[in-house]
Amino acid sequence: MSFATLPAQVDALVIGAGAAGLFYGAQFGARGGSVVVLDHAKKPAEKVRISGGGRCNFTNMETAPERFISENPHFAKSALARYTPWDFCDLMSRHGLTWHEKTLGQLFCDQRSGAIIKMLTDELEAAGGQLRLETEIKRVEKTARGFTVATSAGPVDAARLVIASGGLSIPKMGATGFAYDIARRFGLDIIEPRAALVPFVFEGRDKEDFASISGVACPVRAAADGPSFQEAMLFTHRGLSGPAILQVSSYWSPGAEISLDLFAGGDGAAQLFALKADHPMKSLAGALETVMPKRLVEMLSGRGLIPALNRLADVSHDTLASVAAAIGAWTVVPAGTEGWRTAEVTAGGVDTAGLSSKSLQAHAVPGLYFIGECVDVTGWLGGYNFQWAWASAHAAAHAD
Ligand SMILES: Cc1cc2nc3c(=O)[nH]c(=O)nc-3n(C[C@H](O)[C@H](O)[C@H](O)COP(=O)(O)OP(=O)(O)OC[C@H]3O[C@@H](n4cnc5c(N)ncnc54)[C@H](O)[C@@H]3O)c2cc1C
Repeated sequence: MSFATLPAQVDALVIGAGAAGLFYGAQFGARGGSVVVLDHAKKPAEKVRISGGGRCNFTNMETAPERFISENPHFAKSALARYTPWDFCDLMSRHGLTWHEKTLGQLFCDQRSGAIIKMLTDELEAAGGQLRLETEIKRVEKTARGFTVATSAGPVDAARLVIASGGLSIPKMGATGFAYDIARRFGLDIIEPRAALVPFVFEGRDKEDFASISGVACPVRAAADGPSFQEAMLFTHRGLSGPAILQVSSYWSPGAEISLDLFAGGDGAAQLFALKADHPMKSLAGALETVMPKRLVEMLSGRGLIPALNRLADVSHDTLASVAAAIGAWTVVPAGTEGWRTAEVTAGGVDTAGLSSKSLQAHAVPGLYFIGECVDVTGWLGGYNFQWAWASAHAAAHAD
């Protein structure tokens, strides 16, 4: 769908042919506006392609504003209310695509994620929109009627300029800070972008201990400076990963500790009392190995979190209760995160204070819109970020 020449004039020029940009193009085109979606990459929506292990976790049935992080927690409400997960499911149905819930409301495509990209590009084409790949943006100027954008394929005049170029995560996939540069150019503020939904790295003793059991996974309830998440945690060569840890990383700031409840929200004391009743002749570590991975128990014993208590029959309930309290409130301080290389998303971004929550248009620059991940709205792990891409694109495309 790339065209040899760009039209000299369009109603809307979209920068970024990812989830948000393609969906905007389809929606705006369907309303009768002429639209071109530009991207510097060779292929559109590469993050859709690799998402969800190739099956794209395209939305979440539990979508609610509280599951998005932003300096302004109310900002996402309007767009999310006007385009729901069911609206996107309807669109999928119309294209013959099917889905299943994996866990926690996460909807995955039954087909390969390429089918969603085809659906988006088909919708764009059906709406009369154009997709132009491998095109660089050289300059953006404000004009009386909108914007003139100089591109490697020639200049385009557009009444609306829609920035859908995403965040900084995974530079190898073509991520750039283009949206932030444009925002600053036009006087909008930026909430410092930070890597989110990203594994933690550790140093010193923690790194050695965690690397020694790399590959071990266990259920956990984890928290940083925000809600707690009860999901799996994975020990890695560099530190900690797994869904619970990725969720927590979005709320973490450098130097802060994270708390890990290795009873995953269960009643730890009751579990230790039950172990004592079931295995009175075992050591505490030996009994715990019946309910936790052996290598994890060994590592925690080495750190003194699991004390050497040889015969559970001889251990008082008071002692077991205090051991349970320690195992249920283990705290560690990450040295950092794996950063942009592996972060699934960018938290922070274009400050919503400068944008209309109804239309995603910049208050001070009529015709300039920011949608998708470049905006300071970051979803939890589990399909929320695509839902924001669809909903913010829909809101902008339906703005008058
Ligand atoms: C490995 C991985 C797995 C993920 N899995 C999921 C998942 O299952 N569910 C979920 O909800 N979210 C998932 N996400 C997050 C989700 O992919 C993003 O939140 C979403 O793609 C953001 O959409 P977007 O359109 O705003 O930006 P993007 O999808 O990043 O698209 C931006 C586009 O802009 C282009 N671009 C950038 N700079 C320029 C420039 N200067 N000039 C021209 N073009 C430019 C890029 O090439 C890209 O095509 C995942 C992310 C990763 C990295």
